Amino acid sequence: MKQAHSLIPDSGDDRIHRITGVYSKPVKDHPITMKGSCCSLTGPLTNLPVRQNLSVAVQLAAQKGRGAAVMVVKIGALTEINHWQGYEVGDRVIRTVMGRIEASLQENDFVGRLGGGHFLVFLNHGRQPDRLDERVQMLLTAVSEPMHFGGGPLLINASAGVSLMPEDAGNADELLRNAELALRTARAGCARFFSRDLQAHLAGYAEVRSAMVGALEREEFFLVYQPQVCAASGRMFGVEALLRWQSPTLGLVPPDRFIPVAENVGLMPQLGAWVLASACRQASLWRARGTPLRVAVNISASQLEDPQFANQVRAILGEQALPPALLELEVTESMLVGDVAECQRALEAIRQAGVKLALDDFGTGYSNLAYLRHFTFDTLKIDRLFTNAITGDSSGDTLVRAIVAMGSELGQDIVAEGVETPEQAEALRKLGCSRLQGYYFSRPVPAAEISMIPDVQFTSARSGSFLG
Ligand code: C2E
Ligand code: MG
Ligand code: MG
Repeated sequence: MKQAHSLIPDSGDDRIHRITGVYSKPVKDHPITMKGSCCSLTGPLTNLPVRQNLSVAVQLAAQKGRGAAVMVVKIGALTEINHWQGYEVGDRVIRTVMGRIEASLQENDFVGRLGGGHFLVFLNHGRQPDRLDERVQMLLTAVSEPMHFGGGPLLINASAGVSLMPEDAGNADELLRNAELALRTARAGCARFFSRDLQAHLAGYAEVRSAMVGALEREEFFLVYQPQVCAASGRMFGVEALLRWQSPTLGLVPPDRFIPVAENVGLMPQLGAWVLASACRQASLWRARGTPLRVAVNISASQLEDPQFANQVRAILGEQALPPALLELEVTESMLVGDVAECQRALEAIRQAGVKLALDDFGTGYSNLAYLRHFTFDTLKIDRLFTNAITGDSSGDTLVRAIVAMGSELGQDIVAEGVETPEQAEALRKLGCSRLQGYYFSRPVPAAEISMIPDVQFTSARSGSFLG
């Protein structure tokens, strides 16, 4: 056994050495065996050895005519964990993640740490790319399991970007860059595969960033509102406030494109506060006119992390004389990272103020029930992926039925998002969703148009009460 930092063959043939920690030993009987890892917590300043290993692995796969995937896994919660729990716990998280990835590797795969909370995984798929999706998801699921180091559970929040060879690129450098680009747009708990469209989309990033400077002061942002309809009565129960940006140079920019940029440039706390104040002002106006509507507002991670956030919400409610139950704040699973106790405190402070709390896009992230039982939500919003799956046959209903059963057990309201057809509306109502939202009822519209939206007649509607 000898010390090594690399998978580079050193014996003149194409044999690769198994790497365990910083030691390697040749693997008998296998001309190329790369299952293993190259990582060291006290490792070199650059990630050159990992990238060299990738180069060799890519070359060998190309020589053998094998396909492969380069996956970059990111542990989103590492900064929070280092901050709240200390670097020692952070190191244990890194080691545990390495161990979990190693455990799911197969022959000719390897893992290396790129630095921070980023890991490179090389997955050889031979000539069977069809199982790759499944392998990537299984690996991510294994990595994401909460960790226990004595205190409360730690939530890891892993996501991944994947680039395929030979489809996306044929050399290590480009494969890695493509995987990292894909990672930048991956939702928490999810893997995103590289595509040329994605590259074009990200090319506009710098443009968005520079156009955003001063946009809030120039009043280029505005809100639109999308109705949520009570499934029992067909009447409007509330609205979701959705942010829009009309840029003089870029035109109307969708939130999926500008919100990540606003997060990155540090504009989100300010922009989020503006959204909250504007939505509450509008809710107060509707109430004063005798048509109270609950307004749902999406909040971002940087708002939730602010220890003053709950006080800020209370102050806005006070200024607008708005009853707290007319405000619902929507968070996504990706915000529930790091120390469970800290997240619980942040969410409880909001509920203590009497404000409703909704879990948005349920079912698209990690959605581990063990994970979620640590938090109390008033509302679960089923992602539109599940609504789309409702096509008339019963297979699409199964998951919604399970979510509704779980939500009812926990006393939660279930909102179905993305309802586009009367058939979906009827099916979701029958499955027990309490509120429905989607283009079938209305697209997001300016506040002034909300009062013009008529009630809905369901085929077999029961009578129900307004504002539940
Ligand atoms: P979200 O909170 O899940 O909002 C629902 C999105 O689904 C909205 O997209 C809405 O227009 C769209 N949608 C609604 N009904 C349908 C339908 O029937 N079919 C389809 N295909 N889509 C439907 P939008 O407005 O583009 O917002 C996208 C995301 O941007 C939101 O997802 C939310 O995560 C984020 N976002 C929007 N406004 C804000 C904000 O003020 N603050 C923060 N932090 N995030 C926001
Ligand atoms: Mg939402
Ligand atoms: Mg949603």
